[in-house]
Amino acid sequence: MPTDYYEVLGVERGSSESEIKRAFRRLARDLHPDVNRHDPDAEEKFKQAAEAYEVLSDPNRRRTYDAFGHEGLRTGGWSPHTAGSMEDILASFFGGGDSLFADLFGGGRRAGPAPGGDIAVEIEITLADVLTGVTREVGFEAVSLCERCRGNGAEPGTPIRTCETCGGAGRVQQVRRTAFGQLVQTGACPTCGGDGRVAEQPCERCDGVGREVRARTWDVDVPSGIESGQRIRIAGAGHAGESGAPPGDLYVGVEVAEDERFERRGRDLVTVIHVPATLAMVGGTVTAATLDGDREVEIPAGAQPGHTVRLAGLGLPSLRSAARGDQHVLVDVIVPRKLSREQRKLAERLHESLGE
Ligand SMILES: [Zn+2]
Ligand SMILES: [Zn+2]
Repeated sequence: MPTDYYEVLGVERGSSESEIKRAFRRLARDLHPDVNRHDPDAEEKFKQAAEAYEVLSDPNRRRTYDAFGHEGLRTGGWSPHTAGSMEDILASFFGGGDSLFADLFGGGRRAGPAPGGDIAVEIEITLADVLTGVTREVGFEAVSLCERCRGNGAEPGTPIRTCETCGGAGRVQQVRRTAFGQLVQTGACPTCGGDGRVAEQPCERCDGVGREVRARTWDVDVPSGIESGQRIRIAGAGHAGESGAPPGDLYVGVEVAEDERFERRGRDLVTVIHVPATLAMVGGTVTAATLDGDREVEIPAGAQPGHTVRLAGLGLPSLRSAARGDQHVLVDVIVPRKLSREQRKLAERLHESLGE
């Protein structure tokens, strides 16, 4: 459950940028493993704080969050960059300076535009699809490049000029005085967001953002042999990134529908077939369903419950090999529940004849 970012950092909703920075630095110090060895949740708390800071320290993201909450950030393609160790996370905020701990006192902002978020969709396929492989079209909503301006944020035909704040570099340097001396930091330019260029007349369709949420479809090739719960990753098919940053990925989760005729065991299939006791005694043929159509299966005379007949090569391929496993037909012997008078006489005669 996402918690309120302001609560996580312990600041008021109207807090200034520097108040937010101070709150995060204090938390990061308190939760740092060099300082805090007794709280087993310190790392989790730190990651929450880092996520909150990543949003609230960026004016655009903070505005989105204030207006639309967590949902707004997600549909905007943003996802937190709080994977990895505390050191990695701190380095991503404050740059990898000589002493991260000292950098904590300097403050600063994550440099560069954020990559696009990942998207997850689910599909259900049948065992027959597992056998042959299948192509499925999936539909989803994704942050995409704006169709009108093709992502540059300018009304078509209007000029895009070099950003005055950063001179086109996309990054700005800030010099800060801290208790540890001067600290020079580089961050994304607040005017152009790292682009280095600014549209004179923002695109009407996307308001100059260069991106919009659009319905998209994708033809997903599901390989034969896939198993329930496996995911297919389609690199770059997720949400578009902030200007210039790479898009996220699309993850397609695959569920294989239950089929009451077959139980899957790796590459093999097991089919239970119900055989009358008398047939099991005298032997005969029965029909068993396979993925390749119905097959006649020989039941030998005297087959016991649990007797199996192997149908070689009628199982499934695996992801690694096209060679199919086997299908095992498992005999379940059924004793009739009701007999006519005639049948009962016959059964009794057979019973006497068999003796003990
Ligand atoms: Zn546009
Ligand atoms: Zn700029």
